[in-house]
Amino acid sequence: MPVIDISKLKHKDDEIRTPARVVLVEKSCPKCGLGRMNFTGRAKPVTPPILEHICDKCKHKEEYRQQYPRVDFERVENGKEEV
Ligand SMILES: [Zn+2]
Repeated sequence: MPVIDISKLKHKDDEIRTPARVVLVEKSCPKCGLGRMNFTGRAKPVTPPILEHICDKCKHKEEYRQQYPRVDFERVENGKEEV
């Protein structure tokens, strides 16, 4: 991971531009512990929606408010990765 000097980043208007890295967020199966939960595409139309997930190993089904897998961003402070 290259070190980024934040002071050299461009700021324009009211934009706040922060170094970040992309992370993949996955959910392990709470039943078998081996598989990963994947969104089935089915959702209960409540606010916020409840999303149906299924284990790719044992087919156990769980419902989550968050979708898995998903891509998220983690802030990189002072050019160093937060752990
Ligand atoms: Zn499972």
